[in-house]
Amino acid sequence: MAFENLADRLQETFKKIRGKGKVSEADVKQMTREVRLALLEADVNFKVVKDFINRIKERAVGQEVLKSLTPGQQVIKVVQEELTTLMGGEQSKLHMSNKPPTVVMLVGLQGAGKTTTTGKLANYIRKQQNKKPLLAACDIYRPAAIKQLQTLGSQLDMPVFAMGDKESPVEIAKQAVAKAKEDHNDIVFIDTAGRLHVDDALMEELENIKEATQPDEIILVVDAMTGQDAVNVAESFNERLGLTGVVMTKLDGDTRGGAALSVKAVTGTPIKFVGMGEKLDALEPFHPERMASRILGMGDVLTLIEKAQATVDEEKAKEMEKKMRTMSFTFDDFLEQLSQVRNMGPLDEILGMMPGANKIKGMKNLKIDDKQIGHIEAIIRSMTPAEKTDPDIINASRKKRIANGSGTSIQEVNRLLKQFKDMKKMMKQMMGMTKGKKKKNPFN
Ligand code: GDP
Repeated sequence: MAFENLADRLQETFKKIRGKGKVSEADVKQMTREVRLALLEADVNFKVVKDFINRIKERAVGQEVLKSLTPGQQVIKVVQEELTTLMGGEQSKLHMSNKPPTVVMLVGLQGAGKTTTTGKLANYIRKQQNKKPLLAACDIYRPAAIKQLQTLGSQLDMPVFAMGDKESPVEIAKQAVAKAKEDHNDIVFIDTAGRLHVDDALMEELENIKEATQPDEIILVVDAMTGQDAVNVAESFNERLGLTGVVMTKLDGDTRGGAALSVKAVTGTPIKFVGMGEKLDALEPFHPERMASRILGMGDVLTLIEKAQATVDEEKAKEMEKKMRTMSFTFDDFLEQLSQVRNMGPLDEILGMMPGANKIKGMKNLKIDDKQIGHIEAIIRSMTPAEKTDPDIINASRKKRIANGSGTSIQEVNRLLKQFKDMKKMMKQMMGMTKGKKKKNPFN
């Protein structure tokens, strides 16, 4: 998970201060020392860390904490607010022009994820805002770049404007915008060329495309895993082009998070989106406040709800609830639930958004991978309809047949049967509780 190490360190630090009825200057000193080390270890720019710590120190010994009834918690709130500010404060959305087409130019070094992000962003904007995008292939240097964008376009069923690799990128960009006007596309995403390093020729070409197309957004795509290099790249691009936003990719693989925490403070350019995987829907709008909560172990319930709303069918959810209440929940329903949860994204990431999830014992080692879920699905699919509704009839010979049919082992079949039984038992208990004390939340 992104920010994993930083989150662990900070949560460890705050455990000591959370319940304190009085926070002394020595407590603050100790805490800021630990926060400082944690941030440096997460590869946050040292100057950014220094300013950050100074602000925390100032506020932590100030009136708002001293006068508070729960000073320990107040200090943590100060850190959360400052972390939010550090990452840009408010969410920064993609700016849409009121004179379509909106022109979005994507820039960045090779391998940062520019072409993939072009597809992801277009997909996002079409889904969320019902816009009609056009993709423009202006990387004429990397041999497979045009083909890659065309493949993305056909996966997404979206038009791609290309003129091969003989025309100049400036000309292609200009004509793409004209074509978008003609075809009534609301938004054009220009996928530009990257290089291995920032160089003058590249910058000049990008400046010319900017001049020719007057983009509404110039978005830099950077790889979070390159840490402070990503921040330096952002500074160079910003100086020459004047960026309007950053998409930070590969945050799914970045356990440190230093670049994501430094880029706004160093360049003044906000992160607008983060890439959380290779798939075309693995793009999230960046909410500084929610991210700060995630880092401090307070969870991110809002994102979780949004993900659920986007993927879970409401009718089906109601039906499922009824089944749970009447105890008629079968393996078929289990399969259905599994696929809905799976659509929300990788399970460990979803669990990471639940408040306090990191405190549940063993949660950290709970790596539920796709392969494991695949096995569960295969086992259920190998059951007969009678077995799915009444698992009690599954005897030794049936188990053997199911294991063979699903390409798994008898142990795995046993494990799933036990889990299902436990789950039903738990549901029964929960239902019993809600019946007895109607007003009380059974999860408390
Ligand atoms: P470009 O050279 O900047 O156009 O980079 P590409 O779009 O070709 O991406 C380079 C590699 O990074 C590809 O293998 C992508 O699948 C991968 N990639 C892009 N974004 C993400 C992300 O958010 N997470 C992960 N894990 N991989 C990504």
